Amino acid sequence: MPPGRSKAELMEALVAEVAACTRCPLHATRTNPVPGEGNLDATLMLIGEAPGRWEDLKGRPFVGAAGKLLDGLLASIGLRRDEVYIANVLKCRPPGNRDPRPEEVAACTPFLDRQITIIEPKVIVTLGRHSTAYIFSKAGLPFKRISDVHGQVYRAEILGLEVHVIPTFHPASALYNPRLKALLEADFETIGRVVRGELEAEELPKAEAKAEEAAKRRRGTLDEFMG
Ligand code: URA
Repeated sequence: MPPGRSKAELMEALVAEVAACTRCPLHATRTNPVPGEGNLDATLMLIGEAPGRWEDLKGRPFVGAAGKLLDGLLASIGLRRDEVYIANVLKCRPPGNRDPRPEEVAACTPFLDRQITIIEPKVIVTLGRHSTAYIFSKAGLPFKRISDVHGQVYRAEILGLEVHVIPTFHPASALYNPRLKALLEADFETIGRVVRGELEAEELPKAEAKAEEAAKRRRGTLDEFMG
């Protein structure tokens, strides 16, 4: 964290900059910016894709149906929303919830980088392929498909911080898909164990190998419906 100013002051400055940002055209079509929210001393930081309709209206991340599912997943590992920090790759809603464009990601992610640097999380959970692709690129990890890597625990260095990165599916993708929801729930069990420090360093290579085996087994089934 940059020296001299408190986390709260640094985040307040960032939130003001996001509100005034015109680095990409999305500022012109949004209702409210959605910088992110939560505990500035959180061990766990979750990163989604971009605000949707409800987030755009309220100015808060994950407040729609996907957010309710996320709240339940957090509760399943004994965490409340105010104990974690939740942010997105993009701070403004793409019209019609279309995918983020590379130039928007490039314009907006300096804000996300600063949030990571302020919070200094021990565990980063990426929700869906867009945040996974971004965080994996920062960590120098190869990324192809979320179905190959979800639920695995990666030890990585990001922005000078030693973190555990655990990718999983985006909650919105599991809303109407019970099989994906079951996988998301299983991934959250792993996330809970890592956050509670139950997966000690020497166990992690075993956990990683087990997750890789499981990913291989699942790949066939997932290919059927993930495309
Ligand atoms: N989907 C996201 O990726 N982020 C939100 O904040 C809400 C829905």
